[in-house]
Amino acid sequence: METITNGKGTKAFLMKIIIVIAMLLLACNSDSSSGIKDGDYFTSIRQNDIKLQDPLPGEWRYLYKEDHQSFEDYKKLNTVKAIPGKTKLYLLPLGTFSDLQLKAIESTREYLEIFFQLNTALLAPVSDKMIPDSAKRLRSDGSIQLQTTYIFEHFLKGKIPPDGYALMAITEKDLYPGPGWNFVFGIASYKDRIGVSSMYRYQGGGLNNDNFTLCLRRLMGTASHEIGHMFSIHHCVAAKCAMNGSNSLPESDLQPLRLCSECQQKLNWNIGYDNNKRLLELTGYLKRNQLQQDLLYLEKDMKTAGLAIKQ
Ligand SMILES: [Zn+2]
Ligand SMILES: [Zn+2]
Repeated sequence: METITNGKGTKAFLMKIIIVIAMLLLACNSDSSSGIKDGDYFTSIRQNDIKLQDPLPGEWRYLYKEDHQSFEDYKKLNTVKAIPGKTKLYLLPLGTFSDLQLKAIESTREYLEIFFQLNTALLAPVSDKMIPDSAKRLRSDGSIQLQTTYIFEHFLKGKIPPDGYALMAITEKDLYPGPGWNFVFGIASYKDRIGVSSMYRYQGGGLNNDNFTLCLRRLMGTASHEIGHMFSIHHCVAAKCAMNGSNSLPESDLQPLRLCSECQQKLNWNIGYDNNKRLLELTGYLKRNQLQQDLLYLEKDMKTAGLAIKQ
Protein backbone atom coordinates (compact mmCIF):
# COMPACT_ATOMS: atom_id res chain seq x y z
CA MET A 1 0.00 0.00 0.00
CA GLU A 2 1.27 3.49 -0.81
CA THR A 3 1.88 6.03 1.96
CA ILE A 4 1.58 9.72 1.22
CA THR A 5 4.46 11.61 2.79
CA ASN A 6 4.59 15.00 1.13
CA GLY A 7 2.75 17.50 -1.07
CA LYS A 8 4.03 15.89 -4.29
CA GLY A 9 2.68 12.52 -3.09
CA THR A 10 -0.72 14.08 -2.32
CA LYS A 11 -0.87 15.59 -5.82
CA ALA A 12 -0.03 12.23 -7.40
CA PHE A 13 -2.65 10.53 -5.26
CA LEU A 14 -5.31 13.07 -6.31
CA MET A 15 -4.37 12.60 -9.96
CA LYS A 16 -4.83 8.84 -9.55
CA ILE A 17 -8.28 9.39 -8.02
CA ILE A 18 -9.25 11.68 -10.92
CA ILE A 19 -8.07 9.07 -13.43
CA VAL A 20 -10.01 6.30 -11.62
CA ILE A 21 -13.19 8.47 -11.52
CA ALA A 22 -12.78 9.27 -15.24
CA MET A 23 -12.40 5.56 -16.02
CA LEU A 24 -15.49 4.71 -13.97
CA LEU A 25 -17.48 7.40 -15.78
CA LEU A 26 -16.37 6.00 -19.13
CA ALA A 27 -17.32 2.47 -18.05
CA CYS A 28 -20.77 3.64 -16.90
CA ASN A 29 -21.26 5.55 -20.11
CA SER A 30 -20.43 2.54 -22.27
CA ASP A 31 -22.95 0.39 -20.40
CA SER A 32 -25.82 2.88 -20.29
CA SER A 33 -29.35 2.18 -21.50
CA SER A 34 -28.64 4.28 -24.59
CA GLY A 35 -26.32 1.56 -25.86
CA ILE A 36 -22.55 1.28 -26.22
CA LYS A 37 -20.26 3.36 -28.38
CA ASP A 38 -19.47 2.40 -31.98
CA GLY A 39 -15.91 1.17 -31.35
CA ASP A 40 -17.10 -1.37 -28.77
CA TYR A 41 -20.32 -2.28 -30.55
CA PHE A 42 -18.78 -4.64 -33.10
CA THR A 43 -16.49 -6.32 -30.58
CA SER A 44 -19.39 -6.88 -28.20
CA ILE A 45 -21.89 -8.27 -30.72
CA ARG A 46 -19.23 -10.60 -32.17
CA GLN A 47 -20.17 -13.09 -29.43
CA ASN A 48 -23.60 -13.40 -31.12
CA ASP A 49 -22.16 -14.41 -34.50
CA ILE A 50 -23.12 -17.99 -35.37
CA LYS A 51 -20.40 -20.28 -36.66
CA LEU A 52 -20.85 -21.65 -40.17
CA GLN A 53 -21.13 -25.42 -40.51
CA ASP A 54 -19.22 -27.34 -43.18
CA PRO A 55 -21.22 -26.94 -46.42
CA LEU A 56 -23.30 -29.83 -47.74
CA PRO A 57 -23.01 -31.03 -51.36
CA GLY A 58 -24.85 -28.60 -53.64
CA GLU A 59 -24.60 -25.65 -51.24
CA TRP A 60 -22.85 -22.43 -52.28
CA ARG A 61 -19.63 -22.84 -50.27
CA TYR A 62 -19.38 -26.49 -51.39
CA LEU A 63 -19.33 -25.36 -55.02
CA TYR A 64 -17.40 -22.08 -54.75
CA LYS A 65 -14.34 -21.49 -52.61
CA GLU A 66 -14.37 -17.78 -51.84
CA ASP A 67 -11.78 -15.81 -49.87
CA HIS A 68 -12.60 -14.14 -46.60
CA GLN A 69 -12.94 -10.35 -47.01
CA SER A 70 -11.86 -8.92 -43.65
CA PHE A 71 -12.76 -5.44 -42.43
CA GLU A 72 -9.14 -4.39 -43.11
CA ASP A 73 -9.38 -5.80 -46.67
CA TYR A 74 -12.64 -3.91 -47.14
CA LYS A 75 -11.15 -0.59 -46.07
CA LYS A 76 -8.23 -1.06 -48.48
CA LEU A 77 -10.52 -1.78 -51.44
CA ASN A 78 -11.45 0.93 -53.84
CA THR A 79 -14.80 0.67 -52.11
CA VAL A 80 -17.87 2.19 -53.66
CA LYS A 81 -18.94 4.68 -51.00
CA ALA A 82 -22.21 6.45 -50.46
CA ILE A 83 -21.60 9.94 -51.90
CA PRO A 84 -23.28 12.84 -50.04
CA GLY A 85 -26.36 13.90 -52.01
CA LYS A 86 -26.43 10.60 -53.91
CA THR A 87 -27.44 8.14 -51.26
CA LYS A 88 -31.05 7.24 -51.99
CA LEU A 89 -32.01 3.65 -52.79
CA TYR A 90 -34.70 3.20 -55.44
CA LEU A 91 -37.04 0.28 -56.08
CA LEU A 92 -38.92 0.00 -59.38
CA PRO A 93 -41.94 -2.35 -59.54
CA LEU A 94 -41.96 -3.64 -63.13
CA GLY A 95 -45.18 -5.43 -64.17
CA THR A 96 -48.79 -5.60 -63.03
CA PHE A 97 -49.04 -6.19 -59.30
CA SER A 98 -51.82 -7.17 -56.91
CA ASP A 99 -52.37 -5.02 -53.80
CA LEU A 100 -50.73 -7.73 -51.69
CA GLN A 101 -47.66 -7.83 -53.96
CA LEU A 102 -47.35 -4.03 -53.76
CA LYS A 103 -47.65 -4.31 -49.97
CA ALA A 104 -44.71 -6.76 -49.95
CA ILE A 105 -42.62 -4.39 -52.11
CA GLU A 106 -43.48 -1.37 -49.95
CA SER A 107 -42.57 -3.37 -46.84
CA THR A 108 -39.25 -4.33 -48.47
CA ARG A 109 -38.61 -0.64 -49.15
CA GLU A 110 -39.22 0.14 -45.48
CA TYR A 111 -36.84 -2.65 -44.45
CA LEU A 112 -34.06 -1.42 -46.76
CA GLU A 113 -34.42 2.10 -45.38
CA ILE A 114 -33.78 0.73 -41.89
CA PHE A 115 -31.16 -1.86 -42.91
CA PHE A 116 -28.96 0.68 -44.74
CA GLN A 117 -30.15 3.74 -42.77
CA LEU A 118 -30.60 5.54 -46.11
CA ASN A 119 -33.68 7.13 -47.65
CA THR A 120 -35.38 4.59 -49.89
CA ALA A 121 -38.09 5.34 -52.43
CA LEU A 122 -40.56 3.29 -54.41
CA LEU A 123 -40.88 4.52 -58.00
CA ALA A 124 -44.30 4.39 -59.70
CA PRO A 125 -44.89 0.88 -61.14
CA VAL A 126 -44.05 0.51 -64.83
CA SER A 127 -45.91 -1.94 -67.10
CA ASP A 128 -43.89 -4.78 -68.64
CA LYS A 129 -46.20 -4.77 -71.70
CA MET A 130 -43.69 -2.66 -73.64
CA ILE A 131 -41.15 -5.50 -73.48
CA PRO A 132 -41.11 -6.98 -77.03
CA ASP A 133 -41.81 -10.66 -77.72
CA SER A 134 -38.13 -11.13 -78.61
CA ALA A 135 -37.31 -10.48 -74.93
CA LYS A 136 -40.04 -12.79 -73.54
CA ARG A 137 -40.44 -16.54 -73.35
CA LEU A 138 -43.57 -18.64 -72.88
CA ARG A 139 -43.17 -21.59 -70.49
CA SER A 140 -45.02 -24.90 -70.87
CA ASP A 141 -47.23 -23.99 -67.86
CA GLY A 142 -48.41 -20.84 -69.69
CA SER A 143 -46.34 -18.42 -67.60
CA ILE A 144 -44.23 -15.71 -69.24
CA GLN A 145 -40.54 -15.13 -68.48
CA LEU A 146 -38.79 -11.78 -69.02
CA GLN A 147 -35.23 -11.43 -70.30
CA THR A 148 -32.96 -9.68 -67.81
CA THR A 149 -30.58 -8.25 -70.45
CA TYR A 150 -33.49 -6.32 -72.01
CA ILE A 151 -34.61 -5.04 -68.59
CA PHE A 152 -31.05 -3.86 -67.89
CA GLU A 153 -30.74 -1.99 -71.18
CA HIS A 154 -34.16 -0.36 -71.21
CA PHE A 155 -35.21 0.15 -67.59
CA LEU A 156 -32.05 0.33 -65.48
CA LYS A 157 -28.85 1.45 -67.24
CA GLY A 158 -28.31 5.19 -66.77
CA LYS A 159 -31.72 5.44 -65.04
CA ILE A 160 -30.62 5.94 -61.42
CA PRO A 161 -32.23 9.27 -60.38
CA PRO A 162 -29.71 12.09 -59.70
CA ASP A 163 -29.96 11.70 -55.91
CA GLY A 164 -29.81 7.90 -56.12
CA TYR A 165 -27.15 5.39 -55.16
CA ALA A 166 -28.80 2.22 -56.45
CA LEU A 167 -31.80 1.14 -58.50
CA MET A 168 -33.43 -2.26 -58.21
CA ALA A 169 -36.38 -3.43 -60.31
CA ILE A 170 -38.76 -6.02 -58.89
CA THR A 171 -40.88 -8.13 -61.25
CA GLU A 172 -43.85 -10.42 -60.59
CA LYS A 173 -42.89 -12.55 -63.62
CA ASP A 174 -40.08 -15.07 -63.80
CA LEU A 175 -36.69 -14.03 -65.25
CA TYR A 176 -34.12 -15.55 -67.62
CA PRO A 177 -30.82 -14.03 -68.82
CA GLY A 178 -30.82 -15.64 -72.29
CA PRO A 179 -30.98 -18.89 -74.27
CA GLY A 180 -29.51 -21.86 -72.43
CA TRP A 181 -30.78 -20.64 -69.06
CA ASN A 182 -33.74 -22.11 -67.24
CA PHE A 183 -34.38 -19.14 -64.92
CA VAL A 184 -32.69 -16.75 -62.48
CA PHE A 185 -34.02 -15.25 -59.25
CA GLY A 186 -32.36 -12.00 -60.19
CA ILE A 187 -29.26 -10.41 -61.60
CA ALA A 188 -27.26 -7.30 -60.71
CA SER A 189 -24.38 -5.13 -61.85
CA TYR A 190 -22.61 -4.15 -58.63
CA LYS A 191 -20.35 -1.65 -60.38
CA ASP A 192 -23.33 0.16 -61.97
CA ARG A 193 -25.40 -0.34 -58.78
CA ILE A 194 -28.44 -1.63 -60.68
CA GLY A 195 -30.28 -4.93 -60.48
CA VAL A 196 -33.52 -6.80 -61.05
CA SER A 197 -35.13 -9.42 -58.79
CA SER A 198 -38.23 -11.49 -59.34
CA MET A 199 -40.79 -12.36 -56.67
CA TYR A 200 -42.29 -15.07 -58.94
CA ARG A 201 -40.58 -18.04 -57.27
CA TYR A 202 -40.74 -16.48 -53.78
CA GLN A 203 -44.55 -16.76 -53.67
CA GLY A 204 -45.11 -20.38 -54.82
CA GLY A 205 -48.30 -20.56 -56.92
CA GLY A 206 -49.22 -16.94 -56.06
CA LEU A 207 -49.08 -14.51 -53.17
CA ASN A 208 -51.72 -14.88 -50.46
CA ASN A 209 -52.08 -14.14 -46.76
CA ASP A 210 -50.63 -17.55 -45.84
CA ASN A 211 -47.34 -17.21 -47.72
CA PHE A 212 -47.03 -13.41 -47.44
CA THR A 213 -44.46 -13.39 -44.60
CA LEU A 214 -42.27 -16.02 -46.28
CA CYS A 215 -42.33 -14.15 -49.60
CA LEU A 216 -41.64 -10.84 -47.88
CA ARG A 217 -38.69 -12.33 -45.97
CA ARG A 218 -37.22 -13.66 -49.24
CA LEU A 219 -37.56 -10.25 -50.91
CA MET A 220 -35.98 -8.54 -47.89
CA GLY A 221 -33.11 -11.04 -47.85
CA THR A 222 -32.41 -10.77 -51.59
CA ALA A 223 -32.68 -6.98 -51.79
CA SER A 224 -30.45 -6.35 -48.75
CA HIS A 225 -27.89 -8.94 -49.97
CA GLU A 226 -27.73 -7.52 -53.50
CA ILE A 227 -27.50 -3.90 -52.36
CA GLY A 228 -24.88 -5.05 -49.82
CA HIS A 229 -22.80 -6.19 -52.84
CA MET A 230 -23.36 -2.75 -54.39
CA PHE A 231 -21.53 -1.39 -51.32
CA SER A 232 -18.62 -3.72 -52.22
CA ILE A 233 -19.30 -6.27 -49.47
CA HIS A 234 -18.27 -9.70 -50.73
CA HIS A 235 -19.87 -13.00 -49.81
CA CYS A 236 -19.37 -13.67 -46.13
CA VAL A 237 -17.52 -16.79 -45.02
CA ALA A 238 -16.92 -15.54 -41.46
CA ALA A 239 -20.27 -16.51 -39.86
CA LYS A 240 -23.95 -17.04 -40.60
CA CYS A 241 -24.89 -13.79 -42.27
CA ALA A 242 -27.21 -12.07 -44.76
CA MET A 243 -24.15 -11.85 -47.05
CA ASN A 244 -23.61 -15.64 -47.25
CA GLY A 245 -23.71 -16.97 -50.81
CA SER A 246 -26.68 -19.17 -51.69
CA ASN A 247 -27.28 -21.68 -54.43
CA SER A 248 -31.00 -22.36 -53.89
CA LEU A 249 -34.16 -21.09 -52.25
CA PRO A 250 -34.03 -23.66 -49.39
CA GLU A 251 -30.42 -22.63 -48.72
CA SER A 252 -31.24 -18.91 -48.56
CA ASP A 253 -34.34 -19.60 -46.43
CA LEU A 254 -31.99 -21.00 -43.77
CA GLN A 255 -29.77 -17.91 -43.75
CA PRO A 256 -30.41 -15.13 -41.24
CA LEU A 257 -31.42 -11.60 -42.18
CA ARG A 258 -28.81 -10.39 -39.67
CA LEU A 259 -25.43 -9.18 -40.87
CA CYS A 260 -22.58 -10.70 -38.85
CA SER A 261 -20.47 -8.30 -36.77
CA GLU A 262 -17.77 -8.00 -39.45
CA CYS A 263 -20.21 -7.20 -42.29
CA GLN A 264 -22.00 -4.71 -40.02
CA GLN A 265 -18.65 -3.05 -39.40
CA LYS A 266 -18.03 -2.75 -43.16
CA LEU A 267 -21.45 -1.24 -43.82
CA ASN A 268 -21.16 1.13 -40.89
CA TRP A 269 -17.69 2.29 -42.00
CA ASN A 270 -19.10 2.96 -45.46
CA ILE A 271 -22.39 4.68 -44.56
CA GLY A 272 -21.66 5.99 -41.05
CA TYR A 273 -25.00 5.43 -39.30
CA ASP A 274 -25.81 5.09 -35.60
CA ASN A 275 -25.58 1.36 -34.74
CA ASN A 276 -27.96 1.57 -31.80
CA LYS A 277 -30.61 3.45 -33.77
CA ARG A 278 -30.39 0.88 -36.58
CA LEU A 279 -30.70 -2.02 -34.15
CA LEU A 280 -33.74 -0.52 -32.41
CA GLU A 281 -35.49 0.18 -35.72
CA LEU A 282 -34.68 -3.28 -37.12
CA THR A 283 -36.09 -5.09 -34.08
CA GLY A 284 -39.24 -2.92 -34.25
CA TYR A 285 -39.67 -3.83 -37.91
CA LEU A 286 -39.12 -7.57 -37.38
CA LYS A 287 -41.61 -7.56 -34.50
CA ARG A 288 -44.28 -5.76 -36.55
CA ASN A 289 -43.82 -8.24 -39.38
CA GLN A 290 -43.74 -11.37 -37.20
CA LEU A 291 -40.26 -12.46 -38.28
CA GLN A 292 -39.68 -14.27 -35.03
CA GLN A 293 -36.40 -16.13 -35.60
CA ASP A 294 -34.67 -13.08 -37.07
CA LEU A 295 -35.98 -11.02 -34.18
CA LEU A 296 -34.37 -13.40 -31.66
CA TYR A 297 -30.94 -12.88 -33.26
CA LEU A 298 -31.25 -9.11 -33.06
CA GLU A 299 -32.63 -9.15 -29.51
CA LYS A 300 -29.37 -10.86 -28.53
CA ASP A 301 -27.47 -7.95 -30.10
CA MET A 302 -29.76 -5.52 -28.26
CA LYS A 303 -28.95 -7.16 -24.93
CA THR A 304 -25.22 -7.22 -25.69
CA ALA A 305 -25.29 -3.59 -26.77
CA GLY A 306 -27.08 -2.65 -23.54
CA LEU A 307 -30.34 -1.55 -25.18
CA ALA A 308 -33.71 -2.09 -23.52
CA ILE A 309 -36.05 -4.55 -25.28
CA LYS A 310 -39.60 -3.17 -25.48
CA GLN A 311 -42.26 -5.82 -24.91
ZN1 LIG B 1 -24.37 -12.67 -53.50
ZN1 LIG C 1 -20.99 -11.42 -42.61
